[in-house]
Amino acid sequence: MLHICCAPDATVPWASLSRDMSVAGYFYGSNIHPQEEYAKRREAVAKLMGSVGGRCIYPDYLPDSWLRSALPYAGEPEGGKRCALCFRLQLEHAAREAAGSGCSHLCTTLTISPHKNVTLINGIGNEIAENYGLAWVGRVWRSNNGFPDSVKAARALGLYRQNYCGCVYSIKIKEAEI
Ligand code: SF4
Repeated sequence: MLHICCAPDATVPWASLSRDMSVAGYFYGSNIHPQEEYAKRREAVAKLMGSVGGRCIYPDYLPDSWLRSALPYAGEPEGGKRCALCFRLQLEHAAREAAGSGCSHLCTTLTISPHKNVTLINGIGNEIAENYGLAWVGRVWRSNNGFPDSVKAARALGLYRQNYCGCVYSIKIKEAEI
C-alpha cells in the first residue's frame, strides 16, 4: 500500500513500485485545510488513478480529529514536532488499512519532497509498519531527480499542484513568507 500525500508526489513512486508489485493507494487527507483544498487534492489523486488504472482508498475527511491531535504543536515551525506527529498519524491510518486489506508492504510518497526529513519519515514508517506486521519500503523518492521528474510528470498529466504543505498552520507559514 502506498500512502499518497498528494497526486504530483505520487507520480514517480507509483510508476516505480507498480513495475514490481501490485499497488493500492491510500489518501489520508484529514490534515488538509480547508475542505475545498482537500477536495481539489483528492480530485487530483483520482485523476492520477484514472490515468494509471490504479485504485486508491479515501477514508472519511475528519479535520477536527487531526486538529485535536495537532493542537499542542500549533506553534511549531514546519518540519518540527507537529510534522512528525502528522507523518505518524497519516502512516498509522495507512498501515491499519493495509494490514486489514491483506497488503504485505507499506510505503509513502512523502520522501519525494525536498523539504521533508526523509530519515524521520522512514524511521516512523518502519516502526509503524513493524507494529502492523508489514514490510516498510524505505525509498527516498527525491533521490535520482525524483522531485523534478514528479513535477514534469504532474504537468504532463495536468494534475493540480498546491503551493503549501496542507494544514492550517502551513498556510500561515506560507503567508508569512510572502
Ligand atoms: S506542515 Fe505539512 S507535514 Fe507539517 S503538520 Fe502541516 S500538513 Fe502535516
